[in-house]
Amino acid sequence: MKRFWFILVFQVFLATESDFICTANAGNALFVSSQPATYELAAYLSYIEDAKGELTLEQVRQPGRKNLWHPVPKATVNFGYTDAVFWFMLKLINTETAPLKRVIEIAYPVLDHIDIYQVMPDGKTLHAQMGDKQAFHLRPILHRNFMLPIALAPNAPVKIFIRVKTTSSMQLPLTLWKERAWMAKSLNESLNLGLFFGIMLIMGLYNLFVFISVREIYYLFYVCFVLCMTIFLASLKGLSFQYLWPHSVQWNDQSIIVGLAGVILFCTLFIRDFINLPQNRPLSSKFMLSLAAVSVIIIGSTFFLPYPIMIHWVILTAVIVIVGATIIAIIRWVDGDISARYFMLAWSAMMIGGMILAANKFNLIRRNLFTENATSYGMALQVILLSIALAERLNLEKRNSLAAQMEAYKQERLARKAQENALKIQKHANEILEQRVRERTTDLEQANELLETLSITDGLTGIKNRRCFDEVYPLEFKRAIRDDTPLAVLLLDIDHFKNFNDTYGHLTGDECLKMVASKIENELHRVSDMTFRYGGEEFCVLLPNTQNRGALIVAERIREQIETADFQFNDHKVPVTISIGLVSRIPSQSLHPDELISNADKALYQSKQSGRNQVTVYRVAEN
Ligand code: GH3
Ligand code: MG
Ligand code: MG
Repeated sequence: MKRFWFILVFQVFLATESDFICTANAGNALFVSSQPATYELAAYLSYIEDAKGELTLEQVRQPGRKNLWHPVPKATVNFGYTDAVFWFMLKLINTETAPLKRVIEIAYPVLDHIDIYQVMPDGKTLHAQMGDKQAFHLRPILHRNFMLPIALAPNAPVKIFIRVKTTSSMQLPLTLWKERAWMAKSLNESLNLGLFFGIMLIMGLYNLFVFISVREIYYLFYVCFVLCMTIFLASLKGLSFQYLWPHSVQWNDQSIIVGLAGVILFCTLFIRDFINLPQNRPLSSKFMLSLAAVSVIIIGSTFFLPYPIMIHWVILTAVIVIVGATIIAIIRWVDGDISARYFMLAWSAMMIGGMILAANKFNLIRRNLFTENATSYGMALQVILLSIALAERLNLEKRNSLAAQMEAYKQERLARKAQENALKIQKHANEILEQRVRERTTDLEQANELLETLSITDGLTGIKNRRCFDEVYPLEFKRAIRDDTPLAVLLLDIDHFKNFNDTYGHLTGDECLKMVASKIENELHRVSDMTFRYGGEEFCVLLPNTQNRGALIVAERIREQIETADFQFNDHKVPVTISIGLVSRIPSQSLHPDELISNADKALYQSKQSGRNQVTVYRVAEN
């Protein structure tokens, strides 16, 4: 950047210096010797501005018109855009003794009509016609610039008149060359141009392929921008006329405007998209769109309106785009848009080139090698930097999308983990619940069992109660019927128990009841045998599958055990006896269960009647 300003200041200095030289030599003859390879001719030029374009060679040559000739005002000939015809005059004198061969170069390929007249000392006149309004192949030398070979005889001053009529900027960069020197320079130039257009085409093509692959619209805008820029600069340099459309003289002019308008069109669209204007700066976005629309109108109008009008419009629009885009990009940069930062870097490269070109075209800076190359290489640099910026942006988008993907993945993993946790908790809760339910069920079952047991157990003696008897007895009765086996029923009643209670008290009576129950239980050995507390001091024993004989043995054993039991009250033995009535029958369907009980009761009654403390067997046959 520093270097740029240095060169610019240096150029301004050079311009001033040359102005002086120019004024000093204007109108003077150029003495051409064999040594210098090149002469810049501007300093030796005089000119006439022929506003109406009516003057002929004869008229401008008339000695009477001598004071119409003016020295060119600057070191480079540039009168900007003008309708006038310009006549330039130059006097060359060969100082050598041998003839000299030289070429004149006009290094501004967009001039429309150029007539070069060589007036020899003998008054003979050679006329050559050039300009881009003439098919390319008609040029004396087939080169993108206008070239004319001349021969200078020794000591014979040659006057050269150049008539220029053009709709482009009135510039006449005129140089006299030794043929070899010009060839060497031309080769260098070709290399430079090849390099420049090579860069442009490769960037354009490369990014076209990138666009085809990534399908991001701003890549397409960029590619079109690069291609239009290439067309524009190639036309400006006379290359497209030489190589692309050497016969299309009218289109050659238009191609410059179409190219530049295309640059504006795609540049504005590109910028709008690239620095994200529609989402962030709608007003700037609309501004860019309207500039794009203007460029489309310019492209359309190019084919109907004259070149001088259109070239002014398109350059004006370009300047607006340059200034506008710069301001907007800076705003976006301040907004924090990273793309805008990259863009500004690339943009400033082209902006400097573009400003120099515009300043040159409006005749603010003189035309020279620097102004021309600053433009091209500013553009090339911009195109390269923009391509890098595009890649960077793509990278950024990729990184962003990757980050978003990672974030989504992380969130999903978290969600999954949370879900797993919730499931775990739920499972745990379910397990606890199930455990509780199991425990509760077990508790309930146990409680039920206890309740059941309690409901069928006599609270005092711990043996089965009357309720249990009422449930069990009918079942045993039915089983006996089914199995056709005898069922023995014993009814046992403590003797004189009322007295016992009265004598020893109810508590001792209760103890006695317990003792009797336990004695009865002790004497029962089969699993199927059962004892019940039948009433107050009455017990019942069921002996399934037991005949009278067996039942009698059990009954006698019980009676004996109670009689001999050592039941104590106040340290002395209290006698306790029981009477037993028993019956054993194989029940039949016709026999009512109560019948059997009644039989046993009758037998018990019999025992009581017969003096108590004895067993009576109810004999079925006897009754
Ligand atoms: P018997 O020899 O004729 O059977 O005369 P007994 O006094 O035993 O006959 P009774 O049926 O008239 O008397 C039964 C007595 O049993 C009445 C009651 O005082 C007593 N008794 C009934 N149940 C209980 C009890 O749970 N505890 C106590 N201590 N005594 C009871
Ligand atoms: Mg009784
Ligand atoms: Mg009794």
